[in-house]
Amino acid sequence: MNNLLKDLLISDGISGYEENISKLIISNLSKICDENKIDKFGNVVCSIGKGKKKIMICAHMDEVGMIVKHINNKGYIFFSKIGGINDSILPGKIVNIINKKGKRIVGIIGTKPPHLMSDEEFKKPINYKNMFIDIGVYSKKNVLKTLDIGDQIIFEPKIGKLNNNVYYGKSVDNRIGCYALIKILEKLKKEEDIGAKIYACATAQEEVGLKGAKVSSFNINPDFALILDTTIAGDTPGIEEKDSSLKIGKGVAITIIEASGRGTIIPRKIRNFIIETAQINKIPHQIDIINGGVTDGAVVYMNRSGILTGILSIPTKYIHAPISVFNIKDINATIKLAVKIIKSIATSNII
Ligand SMILES: [Zn+2]
Repeated sequence: MNNLLKDLLISDGISGYEENISKLIISNLSKICDENKIDKFGNVVCSIGKGKKKIMICAHMDEVGMIVKHINNKGYIFFSKIGGINDSILPGKIVNIINKKGKRIVGIIGTKPPHLMSDEEFKKPINYKNMFIDIGVYSKKNVLKTLDIGDQIIFEPKIGKLNNNVYYGKSVDNRIGCYALIKILEKLKKEEDIGAKIYACATAQEEVGLKGAKVSSFNINPDFALILDTTIAGDTPGIEEKDSSLKIGKGVAITIIEASGRGTIIPRKIRNFIIETAQINKIPHQIDIINGGVTDGAVVYMNRSGILTGILSIPTKYIHAPISVFNIKDINATIKLAVKIIKSIATSNII
């Protein structure tokens, strides 16, 4: 795995706590872009090129996680969840609590042992409110010497390779999208004259209501927005092909309808243009129609008087779990297709 992708996956930044991940992203984008800033909301907004058209490329940088809610007298830490996490994946997991000084404190999510559960408790899934974090310090006073109420909690930052092009990591949703964003800008920079002003935007607080994208797309008011995110790969036991036919390693997913239409519905002309661009350039691609889940696209496309929007998604297994699995070839296909889309839109009258 290359160093940039590694750093993005390991960095911390749950929704509303994006300081470190935004610093990492802006330090890379500022090597490429002419204008670079972090806006009042915490979004990274960088731009290159000039021209009449404004094109925005968006990838959310926040990850799902937890925050410290309460510490009991024995030093056990209770938490609130930030973003969509299924309680059943939490027991026994290693987490890092990040204190004000940026130090990572290792903890284990504990629960009551099954041996001591009543029959009724044993049958029911454990609610996260009955879980706690053990950091090996067993008094509230001493715990408070190293961390505070409100500190962010991330899953243990593990990364690695499974086989060939298949890798795993923390916060794959959506750090692989952030990686694609930086690589797309790197490639566009090499063009003589792009013919448009291109905004690269790493958005904040997507996992808790698509908030950063709403603010930044309103401010930029682009002629076209391209959203980069992850989506659900269906090639695992328990998912039927009719529910998700997406597979890792089979290319970029062109998302056309989210959440049965409650999320983004990509305008037909944009949908056709993106699919044709993939076909003409022989870029491996799959069509993504998803019954649940939305991306930043859902707020961008109905911002102001409507913003033309496309969504490219990277199929990911075990999304919103402590570790997810992806194929590097799908990221490369996403980068390739995004560059072709941006160049065509910048230089033609498609929009
Ligand atoms: Zn996402």
